Amino acid sequence: MFVDLHSHSTASDGTASPSEVAQLAAAAGLSAWALSDHDTVAGIAEASAASASLGIDFLPGIEVSAEYPQPGTLHILGYGIDPNSPVLADLTRQLLAGRDTRNPRIIAKLQSLGLDITMDEVEAEAAGGVVGRPHIAAILLRKGYVGTTKDAFNKYLAPGGQAYFDKERLTPRDALDMIRGSGGLAVLAHPIQLRTENHGQLEQVIKDLMDLGLEGLEVIHSDHSAQDVETYTRLADRLGLLKTGGSDFHGGKKPNIPLGMANGRRIPRRFYEDLRDRLVSRRGGNTNTI
Ligand code: AMP
Ligand code: ZN
Ligand code: FE
Ligand code: FE
Repeated sequence: MFVDLHSHSTASDGTASPSEVAQLAAAAGLSAWALSDHDTVAGIAEASAASASLGIDFLPGIEVSAEYPQPGTLHILGYGIDPNSPVLADLTRQLLAGRDTRNPRIIAKLQSLGLDITMDEVEAEAAGGVVGRPHIAAILLRKGYVGTTKDAFNKYLAPGGQAYFDKERLTPRDALDMIRGSGGLAVLAHPIQLRTENHGQLEQVIKDLMDLGLEGLEVIHSDHSAQDVETYTRLADRLGLLKTGGSDFHGGKKPNIPLGMANGRRIPRRFYEDLRDRLVSRRGGNTNTI
């Protein structure tokens, strides 16, 4: 029995709608999944309803970026958050406002470099979802300015690229407070992307996050090698963290990452059950509120 606890839909930068991701989860034979769109819970209601009608378990999630020194990135997953929480609404609004400042700057810079691209096109590409760099990359690709999405990031959109602007991020403390304040359980996403220099530094970063309320570590992820999975599993066990895993599915944006499969590895249902049990016990055994 397998699951996938990290996925994106059209509510952020994935290409499948929340109910399509639910259908893919069922088709892949998964017994549970979580939607974890960037900075938004707009897809949760649809994903939850579709999962119920397909008879598979669903966990609401979100993925937020927090401040962290380059070249690393710090992403926190929040599971079991209440999509109607006012705490979450406040913070997601702030995060979206940050994007509203950043995206036009990227576009203006691309225009000044002589590229034909407008904010209207980018918004159309996002089709009402949260606008992110992958949407800009898709347009650059379609217009032939770059040969691949990766080129779009390397040349223009990633740190060091000609049109890179950082987005406003939450501090790690605010990100964890938001998740816990909206009833969720915080998990460090893809620790490989912290790009820590050694094991000691990795452990210190994780311990600091635990002091702020971190409860889990994403040990299985598409960016993790077999060796990484082993390292993170051992660390999670030693520090008493919950273990989670997911593909980081984005649909056609990352066509080599299928739902339910993370670098050739499946994600055990036990990861889902441990998360669910922690959430249920916190809520006095009430399973209706997850
Ligand atoms: P944003 O939310 O606008 O900062 O964009 C984040 C998204 O861009 C995530 O889905 C990443 O997977 C994707 N992304 C970031 N860096 C790269 C890269 N170098 N190549 C391809 N995709 C990337
Ligand atoms: Zn994404
Ligand atoms: Fe991420
Ligand atoms: Fe993700």
